[in-house]
Formats: sequence, C-alpha cells, structure tokens
Amino acid sequence: MTKYVVVGAGIIGLYTAFNLLDKGVKAKDITIVAQYLPGDESINYTSPYAGGNFSCITGNDPETLHFDKLTYLSLGRIQRALGGPSCGLDRCTSYEHWEHKPPPVKIESLKSYLDQYEETPVEKLPANCAYGIKFLSWSFNCPKFLSNFHDYLAFTRGVKIVRKTLTHISQGFVSAETKVVLNCTGLGSHKLGGVNDTKCYPTRGQVVVIKAPHIKENVMFWGSDFATYIIKRPYSNDQLILGGFMEKDNWTADTFGEQTKDILRRTTTLFPKILNENSGGANLKDVEILRVVSGLRPSRHGGVRIERELIDEGKIVVHNYGASGYGYQAGFGMGEKAARLAIAKETKI
Ligand SMILES: Cc1cc2nc3c(=O)[nH]c(=O)nc-3n(C[C@H](O)[C@H](O)[C@H](O)COP(=O)(O)OP(=O)(O)OC[C@H]3O[C@@H](n4cnc5c(N)ncnc54)[C@H](O)[C@@H]3O)c2cc1C
Repeated sequence: MTKYVVVGAGIIGLYTAFNLLDKGVKAKDITIVAQYLPGDESINYTSPYAGGNFSCITGNDPETLHFDKLTYLSLGRIQRALGGPSCGLDRCTSYEHWEHKPPPVKIESLKSYLDQYEETPVEKLPANCAYGIKFLSWSFNCPKFLSNFHDYLAFTRGVKIVRKTLTHISQGFVSAETKVVLNCTGLGSHKLGGVNDTKCYPTRGQVVVIKAPHIKENVMFWGSDFATYIIKRPYSNDQLILGGFMEKDNWTADTFGEQTKDILRRTTTLFPKILNENSGGANLKDVEILRVVSGLRPSRHGGVRIERELIDEGKIVVHNYGASGYGYQAGFGMGEKAARLAIAKETKI
C-alpha cells in the first residue's frame, strides 16, 4: 500500500522520510528501501563516516543558507523525538576559522540564527587566519544517530524499512499504489539506471579517530586548499574526530599513512591542547589512535539536485542527492524541499 518510496537510508533518506511524516503523510504510506541500512559499513554508504557536526563549511547561495538554517533550528526537535542527546546528537561549542573572510551574506545569515554567536578578536586568531567565530553547534555520533533515527522511524512511527538494491529507479515503484519515488541514493545516483547522473563525483575524506576525554569542543579551520577539523563525538566514550581531506574525484576506500601524519600535524598545531593535556603524554606518538577511515562525500557539479521528474507514463520521481560534505547539517532542509515536491498535487513539472 506504499504511496511514497524513499530510496536510500543514509542521512538524506532518513531526513526526507521524517519530513514526509511532518507534512502529514501517514507512516503506513512510506517505505524506505536501500542497499545499505544503518549499522552497515561500506565505502558506498557515506553517512556512517561523517565527522560530523554543524559547521560553516557550506556555500553562500540563498538556498544553501536556508537549508543550513532550517536544519540547525530543527535539530532540537529531532533530538527530542529520538530520545535526547544519547541518541547521538548533542550540543557543543565550536571555534570556526577561515583563511579568507567569508562574504557578508554568509556572516549575516550565520549571525541571525546561531546560538551564542561571537566573533573572535583578531589577536586570538590562529596564524594565517582572517576571521573566526565561536558558537554553540550540534555534533553527531553518526553511526549511533543513524541507528536511532532508523529505530524511531521504523518502531516509534511505523515506517517500513526494507533492504533492497535497485538497478533502475523505476524499481522504486514497488506497487500500483506507489505515487512518488524519492531518490536519496547519494553517490549511487551516478550509476543507478534511469538516473545515471554523470555530474556526481566523490570528494574523498580521511579521518583519524583518537581517544581524547580532555577535549570538549570543536575546532575548525577552512582554507582555500585545506580543511582541518577537530570534532568531539558525543556519547562515544571520548572519541575525537581529526580531519581532513577533500579530494575531488578520488574513489578509493584505502587510507594512507602520510595523510594520517598530515592530519595529526595540522590538528595538533591548530589546537595544541590535544597534546598538551593528553593523559598519555604530550608527543604525537602518545596519542591513542582508535581508527583511521576514509569516506566519499557525494558531491555534484552544479550542487545538490532536488527536483521532480516525470518518468515512464507520468510516474513521479523526486530527486534529493548531492549533499557533498554537509548532509547532516543541511539535510533536514533538503528533505523539507523534497517532501514538499513529493506531496505537491500537480503532476506538471
Ligand atoms: C570524512 C567525512 C566527513 C564528513 N563530515 C560531515 C560533517 O561534519 N557534517 C555534515 O553535515 N556532513 C559531513 N559529511 C558529509 C555527509 O556524510 C554526507 O553529506 C551524507 O552522508 C550523504 O548522505 P546520503 O544519504 O546522501 O548518502 P549515503 O549515506 O551514501 O546513503 C545513500 C543511500 O542510498 C542507498 N543506495 C545507493 N544506491 C542504491 C541502489 N542502487 N539501490 C538501493 N539503495 C541504494 C545506499 O545503500 C544508502 O542507503 C562528511 C563526509 C565524510 C566522508
């Protein structure tokens, strides 16, 4: 009896299903189908590998700024729905820095909604940094959050979630009652039949996960050719995520020792407290490395694709993919737009 089929159970598919419910679609009318589900690990499933937090890394166009803002302002409600901070979503102070000052439109937007927003005095900025702010951010324990989001949708609300691999988007129309298929397949849209979006490409990242109970904050530094970030992972037994890399069109799942060294060097230079207050000692060799992983951000030339498309005899597909490095922090806003397009009455595009 499924009227709306969401293809994909990454953060974008889950946020999209949440938004369909928000807009009054009944849980019994929604099915999520996906090759990989929360709890799985695969290089073809990006969401478990995100840092992940709300940062100011995204673009400056009005729609992106709107997606960020709507997501930031909605995370409190999602956190409550999923049972509070232990769901893997908690608040944390973030210190964010830029090599080049962001444009006024970005700064004005951030100022308008970020809690505890403060500009960092110039004398307190790290070397080679033009601008910095401090604010109260959101941090995700991504694997835990995905699992709790899955359980909320499946068990609290009653959305059906099924493991299934599609070779063509039309296979999302699982029954005669299916009105709309929402394509939330991330990088999968590159080779999914009927979509085959050659604008999709990966932006590979590598992160080093260390044990660091003494770090309670996020610290980020965005440059024209580097991204250095330190993210406190909530409810993780004191894990700290150190990153990172932004390698366009690199599809490898391998991790590299040279990149690990570079990440450790950059993050401990940016935030010496990682070493200075490390209980195991103040040298790089004393850091307790728990894991090194790589992940592929689902990027797309031209940005996210959120639009309705009519396929085979008027069947409606709503695409929602291409979240690149900001699926957690902008994805609720993306899902809101996709859900709106999905329930729109008219079948014309
Ligand atoms: C190192 C790293 C750090 C990051 N840090 C952050 C951060 O701090 N903040 C932030 O907001 N974002 C961050 N991101 C980005 C974030 O992880 C992505 O934007 C997000 O996970 C994309 O989610 P998605 O649902 O689009 O894709 P995915 O998580 O890849 O999910 C795709 C889903 O579609 C399914 N699928 C694909 N093809 C098919 C098919 N043919 N049939 C059936 N199912 C299919 C998959 O099985 C999966 O369920 C980071 C990413 C990386 C790699």
